[in-house]
Amino acid sequence: MHLDVRTVFFMLAIAALSASASLFLAQRMKLSVHGIKHWAWGLAIAGSSGFLLAARGTINPALSVVLGNCMLLLGYSFLWTGMRQFVGVPVRAWFLLVAPMLAAVVLSLYFLDDRNGPGRIAFLSSLITILSVLGAWELLRTNKDRRLGRRWVASILLLHAAFNIWRAAYNALGQNIDGPYALGSLSTATGVEAFLFMVFLTLGLILMTTDALQTELNRQASRDPLTDVLNRRAFHELFERELSRSQRVESPLSVLLMDIDHFKRLNDTYGHHAGDLALKHFVTITSLCLRAQDILARFGGEEFVVLLPDANIDAAQIVAERIRGQLANHPMATPDGDVSFTVSIGVAVVTEQATDLKDILSRADAALYQAKMKGRNRTVAA
Ligand code: GH3
Ligand code: MG
Ligand code: MG
Repeated sequence: MHLDVRTVFFMLAIAALSASASLFLAQRMKLSVHGIKHWAWGLAIAGSSGFLLAARGTINPALSVVLGNCMLLLGYSFLWTGMRQFVGVPVRAWFLLVAPMLAAVVLSLYFLDDRNGPGRIAFLSSLITILSVLGAWELLRTNKDRRLGRRWVASILLLHAAFNIWRAAYNALGQNIDGPYALGSLSTATGVEAFLFMVFLTLGLILMTTDALQTELNRQASRDPLTDVLNRRAFHELFERELSRSQRVESPLSVLLMDIDHFKRLNDTYGHHAGDLALKHFVTITSLCLRAQDILARFGGEEFVVLLPDANIDAAQIVAERIRGQLANHPMATPDGDVSFTVSIGVAVVTEQATDLKDILSRADAALYQAKMKGRNRTVAA
């Protein structure tokens, strides 16, 4: 099969621009996914370079060879920096400029003439290989996310790199006797590969975006927006999981029910905003008193719950006392000066008779009520 390479480049440019436009539109929805804008720019710039590359021979080589290929490499650089943004590592402006500037110098000096076509292709394919491998490496170097989108895009980039290594070697070893744009097998392979790369890459970028959105939606559905701790729904789910674990390994499980004292008064005295800050302050202090496996949730208003795996009633009461003491000793700093407040805590342990969350919470609630009755700023065990 022989394809007209100019036509292929032209079609590629159109396809890349339309893929870029859909990414720009997605970006306008203010998704909480990073990198989309860079991918969109990458596709737009690399796509537009196709028009210049396709016009080689009919326009000045400074435009088609130098500018066209610099734009192509700028597009790949944007793709790479988009991967960095996606995984949350910093991007510097020079990351984008190194490959295009290097190409501008080398192409102008050595490869302007079409008789140096194979050398030019070998050089450009090497740069494309490096940028593609960098992009794949950003996605694979952290183990945290192994979902389809990431692995898909990384695989496509590595396959693309492999093709470009072959293309560079083929040209460097003087195997390419087609000449640029001749209807030879290398040009056909290049056109077809570029088209497949573009289509499957775009598909992968969309997969990565939906993966990231799903993560964000799950996070939002399980967290309290003010304090960012788990909400009641998420707590219920985790309780069931911890309960079966603790029964399996026969280890105790305890619950703290915590209610800030005179919170209404704090709101009335310092304003609702100070009340919100107090809730965040409370979460900060409490989190510092907990182990990694402890689960803190906001049940509503100024009421919080902690689930303590592997803690019996004595251990749980020690934790509760620590939270109470730390809060009492660390006033919240506000622009109007320090504001002190306290918490009362009811402690209950999961027993063999009562493994229902409702029962356990009602026992903790009774203990909390005792703590309030006895004068607040104290912990009581059920
Ligand atoms: P007690 O010591 O008996 O617990 O008294 P209290 O004032 O803390 O208890 P009460 O339940 O009467 O008051 C709770 C207050 O918490 C009333 C409500 O306006 C306030 N509140 C609930 N949610 C929020 C919130 O998200 N932000 C702020 N600033 N206040 C809240
Ligand atoms: Mg209260
Ligand atoms: Mg309350």
